[in-house]
Amino acid sequence: MGLLRETKKRILKGFPQPYSDETLSSWLFRCATSKKCALTIEVAEYYVESSLRNGIDYDFSFGVIFKRLCARFGIDHLHCKQYFDMKNKDMILSVRSRKSFCRQCLDEDVKFRSVPYWRKSWCRLDVAYCSLHKTMLATTRDDYGLYRSWQSFAYFSDLYYGRRTDRTPYEFVTLKSLGFRVQNWLHINRKEVERTSGATKLIRDLLSSFLSIRTEYRYCGIARVAFGYKSQVPIIHKNYHYSLCMYHGARDSNAIHRSAALIVLGVLLGAYSEQELQSLYKTALYSCGIFPRTPSEIGYAVLELLNEPERAWYIAQFVNLAPIAGLDINSRMEEFIMCIR
Ligand SMILES: [Zn+2]
Repeated sequence: MGLLRETKKRILKGFPQPYSDETLSSWLFRCATSKKCALTIEVAEYYVESSLRNGIDYDFSFGVIFKRLCARFGIDHLHCKQYFDMKNKDMILSVRSRKSFCRQCLDEDVKFRSVPYWRKSWCRLDVAYCSLHKTMLATTRDDYGLYRSWQSFAYFSDLYYGRRTDRTPYEFVTLKSLGFRVQNWLHINRKEVERTSGATKLIRDLLSSFLSIRTEYRYCGIARVAFGYKSQVPIIHKNYHYSLCMYHGARDSNAIHRSAALIVLGVLLGAYSEQELQSLYKTALYSCGIFPRTPSEIGYAVLELLNEPERAWYIAQFVNLAPIAGLDINSRMEEFIMCIR
């Protein structure tokens, strides 16, 4: 490990050392704000802006625009690509939706490292909690782009000292421990999930359908209304096929929606005891939400959103899976799919 670090340091000579879980734009921002580094904030901003203009993901693409920046500043392009890339891009949020962060992490960054940095894990749609602090991620209201780490830190301080959160402690405690359990299971078994044929797709499809957006023609996925029912879920004025409602819903979700999606997935996979299900149900009632307690109820919630051709399409997405970490996903899925069928 020590040796590996030395090699990396040599390759990025003259630049601050990136953290192992840092995003590219976060590192560029730290480079630009470091007095010792030749890279300027104008250059970093130009990179982010021209990427956005061209519909390119400035954190995980490493295309021509980034290559040019590398050439200009003597950065090893290939090394950066390997270092910052996310191998499996199936679980990535859209650039504009990467606004969730852990308050405590940023706080500790400033305390112990001086500059806060943005984590790769915060860009994933199967993550709603900090794996270190086990707290639900907060979401900024604005898209701060390149400045997100500092701005979010400022937002956090403001929130912490000034405003009170409008979520009740009761709701929060329940959601925290039960949603985190599912995220943590996915995290611990990520390698095995990625090795198991069809497993990543299955988990992404399930989370995506719980997170699907509301359009003029159909209501939103269950995770958007499970805890904290809002009479006015925003309507996207597009006549999307259900697959696109899923796609956009997952990519444009916030941490609260994602924690609910993880909990619904937990219900589907049998992660909870009877007592925990009862407590989740009460929490949902308490916040006027809608909460399914069994795989069949989840199935019915999805079925309501599908038209006839979509129903056939949806069922066709699910294939038999080998057990993962001793968990037989097939039998849980059977009950769920039966309702849709
Ligand atoms: Zn944290």
